[in-house]
Amino acid sequence: MKCVICDREACENRYCELHMKAYESVVKKYDLWKKALEISWKEYLSEVAKNPLTGEWAREVAEYLIKSGEVRNVTDG
Ligand SMILES: [Zn+2]
Repeated sequence: MKCVICDREACENRYCELHMKAYESVVKKYDLWKKALEISWKEYLSEVAKNPLTGEWAREVAEYLIKSGEVRNVTDG
């Protein structure tokens, strides 16, 4: 099975190792943003995607999540 974003071999998730790491950091950062701002997951993803300071991997993840319309399935708390 290949990574949903690039052509690398995917690990247990749908992402390769690098995109998995980027995905985890995108999710983690959202928790921080949410504490400070009234921002939805989708709004957050578009901020990440257009932020020039976002790393290439994280931006690809954010763009993929926007396109796929994935709903964040991590529970609060
Ligand atoms: Zn990948």
